[in-house]
Amino acid sequence: MLDSTLQATLDGVLARNPGEPEFHQAVREVFDSLAVVQERHPEYHDMAILTRLCEPERQIIFRVPWVDDRGNVQVNRGFRVEFNSALGPYKGGLRFRESVNLGIIKFLGFEQIFKNSLTGLPIGGGKGGSDFDPAGKSDGEVMRFCQSFMTELHRHIGEHTDVPAGDIGVGAREIGYLFGQYKRLTNRYEAGVLTGKGLDWGGSLVRKEATGYGATIFAQEMLGARGTSVEGRRTVVSGSGNVAIYAIEKVQQLGGIAITASDSSGYVIDEDGIDLELLKQIKEVERGRISEYAERRGGRSRFVSDGSVWNVPGDVALPCATQNELHERDAKKLVENGVIAVSEGANMPCTPTAVEIFRDAGVAFGPGKAANAGGVATSALEMQQNASRDAWTFDYTEERLTDIMRQIHTNCLETAEEFGRPGDYVLGANVAGFRKVADAMMAFGVI
Ligand code: NDP
Repeated sequence: MLDSTLQATLDGVLARNPGEPEFHQAVREVFDSLAVVQERHPEYHDMAILTRLCEPERQIIFRVPWVDDRGNVQVNRGFRVEFNSALGPYKGGLRFRESVNLGIIKFLGFEQIFKNSLTGLPIGGGKGGSDFDPAGKSDGEVMRFCQSFMTELHRHIGEHTDVPAGDIGVGAREIGYLFGQYKRLTNRYEAGVLTGKGLDWGGSLVRKEATGYGATIFAQEMLGARGTSVEGRRTVVSGSGNVAIYAIEKVQQLGGIAITASDSSGYVIDEDGIDLELLKQIKEVERGRISEYAERRGGRSRFVSDGSVWNVPGDVALPCATQNELHERDAKKLVENGVIAVSEGANMPCTPTAVEIFRDAGVAFGPGKAANAGGVATSALEMQQNASRDAWTFDYTEERLTDIMRQIHTNCLETAEEFGRPGDYVLGANVAGFRKVADAMMAFGVI
């Protein structure tokens, strides 16, 4: 229950942003956690910190015209929401998917503020994207779209202003086209303007692996706090994109058995453990469908097109596909099947009711803004390397990532304890992320 002032602030935010359910969901979750902070820090309310935090500093919406392979003119919509720059330049990925709209970008940008704060690195929060879907498009079409998208976006970004990266539908290929066009338009080799770049042109080792590795490391830390580990644990993973693939890789490195992967057409189950080389070949190289994995595993795996991957029993669950992919019934099933830890590789994959079910059942639950922060943290490490014109080794960069994930875990745990809710990583992440941003905003006055 929120007190009346917090409730009034929340009502104001919801009323000012109609028709944006995902944004409302993300804001509500943060407000639920912040009741305890408001009691101790009335000055935040006096300075309207929360009201200001929920209003993006800048929102850019633009037309993206491009010509397809048949010579037809196509028009998409581009977005960049520069949400909060209290701690550093806006930082957050670009999502290219048909379902993208302003509300989705705002939910992602809002989450990003707290996530970036938790990394301990000097980065603010932002997010962008388009309702363009690269799936089924030729390389030429993707290139022309990216060039058109950047022709507008380049006015708004810069290494000290706003630094985009990838997200769903935006991988190394798209970042290459976007960076090429930025370089051409500005006549500057400003490597720090985008992250997730190729290794030959300013990218960082471990960036590709970072989000998935980080989500599994977070699970390992949560299990460690309970005196156990990922080793020998059956792990159920959703998604088969960048995050899922490297979450699986880290599970295997830690001695766990990842038994599933999925995409929007269904999931595969492989009791022997996912064959990672085959999965990478199908998904990263051929851009194929997950059903092909089962076809090529020769009877050792099966593809399920109807039903939820969360019906598969496992000790650990790593949702790594998209928002609101794990519902109440899925959470109940996972608990019934004995899950002990859930670490969100994706952003907000578990619905609020699912999160409550995990909490009530005593499952260790790592929210995305903490558990998947490894990606953006390594992006910030990429920016550091660009600024110093240096390139770090894989081992050193991975060590930094692991340290950051451990620090985030400890910070969440200690903050939850401080506010009387031991083991509540949601509260810990929201409060720890918020305090740093709020204090910086207090220092800057009303801006
Ligand atoms: P990718 O595009 O590489 O992969 C997304 C995967 O999720 C694909 O397998 C896709 O299947 C599947 N998927 C997407 N939508 C749905 C859906 N509605 N139902 C079922 N499956 C779906 O994206 P990423 O791996 O980069 O991102 C995954 C999640 O992680 C997102 O929530 C993203 O915001 C979050 N994230 C990503 C970071 C990163 O560094 N990449 C950083 C932090 C968070 P299909 O091929 O069928 O579309």
